[in-house]
Amino acid sequence: MDNSPRDRSHSRNDSPGSHAGGAFEHISSTANDTVKLLRSLDRKKDRQETGLFLAEGARHAEEALANGWSPAYAFASQAALDRPQTRDLLERMQAAGARALTGSEKILATLSRKDNPQAVISAFRQRVTQLSDFPASGQRRFVALYEVRDPGNLGTVIRTADAAGCDGVILVGTTCDPFSVEAVRATMGSLFAMRLAMATFDEFRQWCGSNGVRVVAASMHGQHAHDKASYPERSCILMGNEQAGLPADVEAACDELVRIPMMGKADSLNLATAASVMIYEAWRAQAYQGANR
Ligand code: SAM
Repeated sequence: MDNSPRDRSHSRNDSPGSHAGGAFEHISSTANDTVKLLRSLDRKKDRQETGLFLAEGARHAEEALANGWSPAYAFASQAALDRPQTRDLLERMQAAGARALTGSEKILATLSRKDNPQAVISAFRQRVTQLSDFPASGQRRFVALYEVRDPGNLGTVIRTADAAGCDGVILVGTTCDPFSVEAVRATMGSLFAMRLAMATFDEFRQWCGSNGVRVVAASMHGQHAHDKASYPERSCILMGNEQAGLPADVEAACDELVRIPMMGKADSLNLATAASVMIYEAWRAQAYQGANR
């Protein structure tokens, strides 16, 4: 994957340093090349080509900086820069490597495609960890999502995995893009704190086998309830696709299949809801070790 931004040059309608006390680049037109580049990041093809993705809002930017991510671009509206905390954030983003940009609310709105956009929008280089680089000694908990399709579900699971101290999220097979605007939004900043790997099911199973990671799959075909399962020192919860669940051969290759008890008329739980129940059960089995809030 090409990780370099497509356009690092200033376009004709960039004028640098229009703000007192800051060397931010001022952008005056929605036709600016950098604005077009940032706007294109709502398309998967352009995210893949550039290796970049968008994160909206100060919270995402703060989480990224706190977790040592280097931003490629950070854009704040001129109005927002009147707030000392926004100016300070843009300066810190710039110090961390971002091209710091300012412009009108109208430009900001075109970047986020929202009427009420967040005051800051940033772009980061995508970061995916090789599964072989995941930590696999000591007490570890992982979550794997098989062919997850809904970016909201994916982002929510990453957020829950972060809150419950998981060591990584593994996307198995063909999944939705974790760097889409919707997925990033749903992580509420946890994307920047969580290791993410992508693997085929065979690669995933092989890695679990050679690192002593027990795979507990949540399935409508589970033989017993999720709280009767064994979550040993190293375990990985596997969740199925929103429509089809887990294929039979995948289920057969797991160490244990469990179901979450239900009543009422619902056929199943929403994927992210079921993942939360499973993630917290695996952590409960380890006496919520490490909890600090
Ligand atoms: N029709 C699909 C099926 O038969 O598996 C339903 C998929 S469900 C919306 C998405 C995933 O959430 C499932 O593959 C499973 O991993 C998990 N899930 C949802 N409800 C569950 C339950 N009651 N017990 C175990 N897993 C559940």
